[in-house]
Amino acid sequence: MQLTKKMLIDEIKALKKASALHAKYSVSQYKNVLKTLDALEAEKELLEQKVKQRTIHLETEIQENKELTNKLEKVAKYDQLTGLANRYLFLNELSIIQNEANLLQKPFALLFIDLDGFKLVNDTYGHEIGDVLLQTVAKRLRSVVRKEDMVARLGGDEFTIILRNIDQKSKVEFISTKIIQSVKEVISIEQINVYVGASIGIYLYDFESDVQDIIAKADIAMYEAKKGGKGQFIFFDSYMQEQLQTTTHIKTRIKNALKRKEFVNYYQPVIGSNDLEIKGVEVLIRWKDQGKLVPPDKFIPLLEEDISLIKEVTFWQIEDTIKKLSKIDITFAINISAKLLSDNDLIQTLQKLEKKYSFDKKRIFFEVTETSLSSNFLVASKILRIVKQMGYNLSLDDFGTGYSSLAYLREFPFDVMKIDKKFLDNLEKSQKDQKLLEAIIYMAHLLDMRIILEGVETQKQVDMFEKNEFTKFQGFFFSKPLEFETLLKNYKR
Ligand code: C2E
Ligand code: CA
Ligand code: CA
Repeated sequence: MQLTKKMLIDEIKALKKASALHAKYSVSQYKNVLKTLDALEAEKELLEQKVKQRTIHLETEIQENKELTNKLEKVAKYDQLTGLANRYLFLNELSIIQNEANLLQKPFALLFIDLDGFKLVNDTYGHEIGDVLLQTVAKRLRSVVRKEDMVARLGGDEFTIILRNIDQKSKVEFISTKIIQSVKEVISIEQINVYVGASIGIYLYDFESDVQDIIAKADIAMYEAKKGGKGQFIFFDSYMQEQLQTTTHIKTRIKNALKRKEFVNYYQPVIGSNDLEIKGVEVLIRWKDQGKLVPPDKFIPLLEEDISLIKEVTFWQIEDTIKKLSKIDITFAINISAKLLSDNDLIQTLQKLEKKYSFDKKRIFFEVTETSLSSNFLVASKILRIVKQMGYNLSLDDFGTGYSSLAYLREFPFDVMKIDKKFLDNLEKSQKDQKLLEAIIYMAHLLDMRIILEGVETQKQVDMFEKNEFTKFQGFFFSKPLEFETLLKNYKR
């Protein structure tokens, strides 16, 4: 077909129209796309902003977590007061060093150090001075040994040092002499000059003993050093072996006793002085060893040597007591060893038990002695405060036997003061003690504390006290510690 001029013009017109249309549409489309793009861009920016914020948030969280983990790790491995390794880290290191020694066939020495006269300083000048003293001793110990040697504080005034790669006794003797000399130098705190000494038990590794044995041997040598006049060091010797065998022997039997459920709780009634009725009991442990009842004095100190053992026994007692609360409507007092006031296991155990059982916390009293407070004042006071806040009651046990510092009464939230039998025994003889006790009871009332008089054995003793709702009696005059079934029968009578 031939193109006419008109056709050509029409064609051009149509093309122009199309192109105008196209332009029109593409602009609006383009605008739309732009709008969408803008919106997307804004959204993206918002998202990016959010991501940024979240990242910052996460980063601080991670940082905080890290700090917390670091802190927890420090608490878990290092002694809070002195910064030295704690018992946990010490035990870990000891087995590592033992393996290393076996591998290299190079012995090491373990030094068990106990301060002489620390308790006196602590009791005379207070725990704050005592704490500074421990810090000073820690620094001195650190400064006399090499960098690669480990210095640890096991608790109280007990320290250990592991001297690596030591092949000569004379080197150990040299370092031990230096330790004794440096510890005994005067320590000046706030213009007070205090003095302590160090008794050291040493065990040179013989490539045979296991970790428990190594510790026991250094420990026994330390006791020998104390016995032999303090301020000296003594190496473990085979003549001490016999002693080692008897203590380890008893310890193994105690561990088995726990597994075999040979421990039983006895309950000694606490009597109201006004109506002479049973208001509560104190839980007292006994060991049924091959049919014989072993008194607590014979085995509690051994349980306390292994903190996990005393914990296990006490936590079992607490759970058992909770179960018994529903059987008899009285209060129960449980003895808490000083060893349980050095970490938060007690608190965690109580929290677990609270989830497991529902019970009236007010009916549980925890008894602690002054001595248990003085050995570790800062931590012990924190733990006791929390236990009190949780709703349990606290009793100050054996009041009048130690130094009976008024500071404890002020610092700690005790509900009950238990006045020791020794104090009561003296009363009949000493007018002064009578006056003193009157004053103590008066002060306890002012501080809102109730009183339990312990070890009441005679009517005469009973008659010496005013009968009121604040004062209670506990002693053989009323009842010996009883088995639970007997207690139930007596109570219902
Ligand atoms: P404590 O806490 O002062 O307990 C009171 C002790 O005095 C008990 O001896 C009790 O039987 C005894 N007693 C009570 N009334 C009289 C009395 O009129 N005359 C005489 N002579 N003694 C009386 P027990 O049961 O032998 O306990 C001795 C110590 O062993 C307790 O002293 C306590 O420190 C510790 N203990 C006992 N049971 C436990 C326990 O379950 N856990 C812990 N951590 N320590 C315990
Ligand atoms: Ca007690
Ligand atoms: Ca007592």
